[in-house]
Amino acid sequence: MTVLRSGSATDVGRVRSSNQDLSLEAPNLYAVADGMGGHAGGEVAAQVAVDALREAFARHATLDGLRQAVGEANAAVWRQSQQRVELRGMGTTLTAAALVAGTDGRDVIALANVGDSRAYLFSGGRVTQVTADHSLAEEKVRHGELTEAEAAVHPHRHILTRALGVAAGVEVDLWELHLQVGDRLLLCSDGLTNEVDPAGIAGVLSEVADPTDAARHLVAMANEHGGNDNITVVVVDVLVGDGAGAPQGLTTTA
Ligand code: MG
Repeated sequence: MTVLRSGSATDVGRVRSSNQDLSLEAPNLYAVADGMGGHAGGEVAAQVAVDALREAFARHATLDGLRQAVGEANAAVWRQSQQRVELRGMGTTLTAAALVAGTDGRDVIALANVGDSRAYLFSGGRVTQVTADHSLAEEKVRHGELTEAEAAVHPHRHILTRALGVAAGVEVDLWELHLQVGDRLLLCSDGLTNEVDPAGIAGVLSEVADPTDAARHLVAMANEHGGNDNITVVVVDVLVGDGAGAPQGLTTTA
């Protein structure tokens, strides 16, 4: 058995007039969506995606169920954008993590990503980026045309090569993570990562124990560094783990 505890924070930032980010904390399901599209489009896309994700995952709470749920979220946003002319062209990023039974029967975290929101794993005092951005700048890094440092300030870093809801189907990146007690998973929109570097993120995650406080602290840091975009952070802590990390003497039932 694995027990998780989570906290989140979101803020419009210091430049934008509306917050088109959205976070989700549901039983064993966590997500960040960063909507895009003029007027209400971005907000609608993020809300439709998160609602569809939650409903679909509740019906099929497995690794494959998470993949299907992201597909259903894509279809739901795409359908609305086709039905309402004022929402045409809307889309959203979606980074989602779920606690599911792994292929070996032990609990694992299933992670799915489309777009440039990110998931980081904080373990043993170090932070590691798990997801790969679907942005023009990151594709250039993968092809050796840009360094990570160049990509971080590249004018094309915000141009997405993949987003949810902009076509009838979508390709989804998936991971299966085996977490230990004490590990922390961070989901965030680019409003955090454009303002705060991984060392800054690691510093907060190592110093602030409560997940809600940690999320609020990270959002405040992003605002101090400029707050040029909406900022959303979800922190998920592993309190009790499955397997090697489980405390001795604990009764575990999978
Ligand atoms: Mg953003």
